[in-house]
Amino acid sequence: MSFKLPELPYAYNALEPYIDEATMKVHHTGHHQAYTNGLNDAIADTSMENSSIEEILAVVDPNNKPVRNNGGGFYNHVMYWNIMSPKGGGQPAGDLLKHIIDTFGSFDNFKDQFSKAGMGRFGSGWAWLSFENGDLKIGSTPNQDNPLMPFAEFSGFPVLGMDVWEHAYYLKHQNKRAAYINDFFQVINWEEVEKRYKSVK
Ligand code: MN
Repeated sequence: MSFKLPELPYAYNALEPYIDEATMKVHHTGHHQAYTNGLNDAIADTSMENSSIEEILAVVDPNNKPVRNNGGGFYNHVMYWNIMSPKGGGQPAGDLLKHIIDTFGSFDNFKDQFSKAGMGRFGSGWAWLSFENGDLKIGSTPNQDNPLMPFAEFSGFPVLGMDVWEHAYYLKHQNKRAAYINDFFQVINWEEVEKRYKSVK
């Protein structure tokens, strides 16, 4: 089996004015395609060849950089496209909103802490909201590491992930990562995030 670059669930310009068309195009057809190809090359003729991406992330050796980087990159971006939407923004609803308020005090406090996790990740990486042992937690990982990897700096099931690599925002926001994070919140597809939360809760 080999992995395929998924189609975006919306047009490249659909997240304007928050995430620009040029960024979406190069991010999807350039970066995500490269992770997909790199993953397929790295697992060919290995015991991981017929595994799901979740199975691969669960067993990847930290020293196996091709699978670690490209496998993480493949999973992270599949999630990223789906947790954004032109109809996104606002707040989650139901159990997830309640859990966020119970954990972080308010949605605004959650947004503040999640934004800080993204701002505090030096260089390239991801900020996460993860679910583990009944708790919601905020953290970040470097490069394309994912909380499902057993050695990751931050663990749990990734409910929401935000790409803070410069390639996710530099064309529009240049060095202003905080402005990108604010714009990212305008397009979060909370329905999809709630689905991910319910799948493990
Ligand atoms: Mn990216």
